[in-house]
Formats: sequence, C-alpha cells, structure tokens
Amino acid sequence: MAEVLKGAPCAKALTEDLAQRTNALKEKGVTPTLALLRVGERGDDIAYENAAVKRCEKVGIEVKKFLLPADAKKEEILSAIRTINIDESIHGCLMFRPLADKDIESAAARLLLPEKDVDCMTAGSLATVFSGGGAGYPPCTAEAVVRLLKYYDVPLAGRKVTVAGRSLVIGKPVSMLLLAENATVTICHSRTADLAAECRNADIVVAAIGKAKLLSKDFFKKGQIVVDVGINVDSEGNMCGDCDFDAAETIVSAITPVPGGVGSVTTAVLCGHVVEAAEKASARL
Ligand code: NAP
Repeated sequence: MAEVLKGAPCAKALTEDLAQRTNALKEKGVTPTLALLRVGERGDDIAYENAAVKRCEKVGIEVKKFLLPADAKKEEILSAIRTINIDESIHGCLMFRPLADKDIESAAARLLLPEKDVDCMTAGSLATVFSGGGAGYPPCTAEAVVRLLKYYDVPLAGRKVTVAGRSLVIGKPVSMLLLAENATVTICHSRTADLAAECRNADIVVAAIGKAKLLSKDFFKKGQIVVDVGINVDSEGNMCGDCDFDAAETIVSAITPVPGGVGSVTTAVLCGHVVEAAEKASARL
C-alpha cells in the first residue's frame, strides 16, 4: 500500500518556523499583517478565510478584514485596495477570487502592489513565477505542492513530472515551480490525446483538473508519487480529489489524500508569504 503524504505535518513544520521568524520581527517592532479582502458571502471563501485566520493566529500574524457586500461597486473595491497599498502596517493582501465581475477583478489586480500580492493576483507576481525573480509570490496552492514534496524528501531534479491541468492558478505555476527544481515537466489539459499514458509515463503526477476521481487505475504505475490538488464532491456527496484514491493507493508508492493533503499546506504557505513580505519591508526601513 502507498505511503499517505498528509499535509498536516508539513504545515506544522512550516508554521513553527514562521512563528519563530514572526517573533524575531516583533522584537524589531514589526507585526506581520495580512489584509483579507472578501466581497460577498460565498461559503468556500468564508471557509478559506476561517482556515487562514486560524493559521495566522498560530504564526502570530495580525489579520485586518475588509468585508464588502456582494453588490459592492467597483470604486468601493478599488478604494479598499488603495487603503491596503498605502497602509505600511499591512504587508500582504489576499482578495478572495473569483469576483463575480471579471472587469473589477482585473482592475483590482492591476492596482494591488506586487510586493503585497501574497497569492499571485497581479501580472507582476505571475511574471515572477515564470522568470524566477522580481516582486510578488506564487499562488499558495501551487507552492504548497512543491513544499509538500520537499517536506517528504521527494527528489525533483531530473524526475519526470506530469501536471494534469494548465490553469493560471495551479497547473501553469506549479509546472514552472517544478521546472525551477530541475524536474522535466509535461503539462496536460483537456485536449491532451492520452492523459492516462502521460500520467503512467511520469515519476510524479500532479493532478489539478477538478473532476472527481478522473484519474483511475490505468493512469498509475508502480513507484510513482501522486499529488492530488483536486477538490471535488463524489456521487455519494463526499469530498474527493481528481484521483481514484482507493485504486491508486494499491499501485503507487505515495499519494496525498483529499481532504488532508495539499489543501492543509496552503494556508501555511500564505503565512510564509506574509512573513517574507514583512521581512522585506522591515529590511527597507
Ligand atoms: P480550472 O481553472 O477549471 O482548470 C482545470 C484544468 O483542468 C484546465 O486546464 C483544463 O484543461 C483541465 N482539464 C479539464 N478536464 C480535463 C480532462 N478531462 N483531461 C485533462 N485535463 C482536463 O481549475 P483550477 O482552478 O486549476 O483547479 C483545479 C482543481 O484544484 C479544482 O478541483 C479546484 O477545486 C482545486 N483547487 C484546490 C486547491 C487546494 O488548496 N487544494 C486550491 C485551489 C483549487 P483546459 O485548459 O484545456 O480547459
């Protein structure tokens, strides 16, 4: 049976390190601070907000909430971003996405300072992911995949990785982060001719599609490491990933569970970006 790569121990180790770095900053009079900007009352946004706040408490990060109604006007949302930009006590901003209005979302993304963009909302952050240098941070979930693999000492250099999914939130950035670790990366999508063959050919499979249990037993081979990023609900109403966990578990060497895998690391990565942003800001003082 495969080793189950749970996210909690990785998140705990990251949190402990971040708490120490936060204490060091506080001794210098700097409290790392995250602005949470939520428009409306979507259940998944609130769930992520609660998880983020809990993780921030463990690290010692202060949270400032900017809560706007679902019908907030463009100017109200942009005004909140301006406030966050000019408030020197705020080091990072997480705006829950997607917004209902794509035009407002794009305008907000153009306005937010890249150095406060802790979840890769701005073009500047995306450029950083692709170029490897500059202001901003990778999307938290994409980075969580790499953090989890490193925590479990999975070698990446020279390994063949198949990433299933090419979104700007996960598929593309995680591919760039793995490339930066010298993996040989194949990116797959809905037009890929034979996804099962591309997955079987890999040492490591990263599934980020959003289709419950799409990756069945034919997608796996012995010795593989599987990271399942998908969050779906199966036909019985249970949360599940993109991989058929029960089938994969009998074949591969190691696999992340859903829930309890990548998702549990994401808020720790978010906190890591806030602490790093605060460290950079305090170095500029
Ligand atoms: P997305 O924007 O909908 O992108 C899905 C990707 O999967 C697209 O690139 C799409 O290809 C590809 N795809 C769809 N059907 C496919 C198929 N049959 N074969 C191969 N590729 C296929 O989704 P996302 O935002 O990247 O999220 C992916 C999953 O991760 C979702 O389940 C989401 O809930 C989950 N997620 C998890 C976390 C976490 O913390 N664990 C965070 C965010 C999201 P095309 O480009 O060709 O359309």
